[in-house]
Amino acid sequence: MTTDPTKLEGLHRDTLAVRAAVDRSQYGENSEALYLTSGYVQPSAEAAARRFAGDEEGYTYGRYGNPTVASFEQRLAALEGAEACISTASGMSAILMMCMGLLKSGDHVICSHSMFGSTIKLIGSDLAKFGVESSFVPQTDANAWKAAIKPNTKLLFAETPTNPLTDVCDIRALADIAHDADALLAVDNCFATPALQRPMALGADIVMHSGTKYLDGQGRVMAGALCASEELVTKTFLPVLKSAGMTLAPFNAWVVLKGLETLDIRMAAQSARALALAQWLQSHPGVARVHYPGLTSHPQHELAMAQQSNCGGAVLSFEVKAVGADEGRARAFHVLDSLQTLSLSTNLGDTKTLCAHPASTSHGRLTEAQRQAAGVVQGLIRVAVGLEHLSDIQADLDRGLSSF
Ligand SMILES: *Cc1c(COP(=O)(O)O)cnc(C)c1O
Repeated sequence: MTTDPTKLEGLHRDTLAVRAAVDRSQYGENSEALYLTSGYVQPSAEAAARRFAGDEEGYTYGRYGNPTVASFEQRLAALEGAEACISTASGMSAILMMCMGLLKSGDHVICSHSMFGSTIKLIGSDLAKFGVESSFVPQTDANAWKAAIKPNTKLLFAETPTNPLTDVCDIRALADIAHDADALLAVDNCFATPALQRPMALGADIVMHSGTKYLDGQGRVMAGALCASEELVTKTFLPVLKSAGMTLAPFNAWVVLKGLETLDIRMAAQSARALALAQWLQSHPGVARVHYPGLTSHPQHELAMAQQSNCGGAVLSFEVKAVGADEGRARAFHVLDSLQTLSLSTNLGDTKTLCAHPASTSHGRLTEAQRQAAGVVQGLIRVAVGLEHLSDIQADLDRGLSSF
């Protein structure tokens, strides 16, 4: 099942967000069909042979492709402004697919210190076992990225804004550094999403997603994706999918496909609440520091506004006022344990506001030195702002913050 290429030509992003998909089936369903099947019946033995050889379009086996999954890929590619997209079972398996496709033993990758915790673990430790070298540099210092380039550097992988401190890096500057070295730039666009930031337009070669977060948007399923050129997707990533099998389940693809229809309006509404909450926290006597790109106090505020459609996004973090790491941890735990409405949960990108203690959860597997480099202190709380009324969000956080 394919898409009539003329059908989507010239349409706006808003329209593509609800319309880009494979063609309707013969039944004319309005909501995209969910094709739950692991195999496909072949019209003839000759056709099957051609399809398996890649000489003819057509579905062959669930690990290789599925029409519902293809609809999600087409829609996400349209929103990111990418030629193509390939989806995976989770965000981490998208990163694994990217690395398995692009890198071999002896190659070198540059990331920032403040990448998502599991990304640091995957690239810094798991891939090191297979001879992939990595360097971790300060997120916001483009010169440090440049200085880390080696003759064997193949990939620069940036995440902006970062989790949980919302550090912002200059995508265009990193793309230039990568391309000058004949390397590729990949951007984890999980926090900003294509609603706010489109890295390909700024020179990135690959956009990576955890669909588990804002693309789903309601905390229901796991998903991941890579957006890139048609050539990278079909020649570099698809072969990895076929042999390694990090395939996105059709049901999960369908949920995330429908999530994309409301992505822009959710991001706008949740980001507006996040900005108001960040301003309120900044003036709270129990709070030492707020990290949010929408605040003028954020060190990369201007870059963030230019790069992210004038919007800070829906995630912020803040440090409770405390003396030393032990008191910081105790007070952060007190705030989290005092919550009655908001969720104590390490996920993000839900319509329900989620609060977490990064130092003991998402960044808990890192060594103390890696955690220090990432700036994840014990008094830090991350808030992924949802769609509750702002005053209820404030009241729930105030319960702990006002009773140290
Ligand atoms: C959650 C997350 C990932 C990993 O995605 P999963 O779907 O959990 O595998 C990668 N990067 C960032 C920034 C994330 O927040």
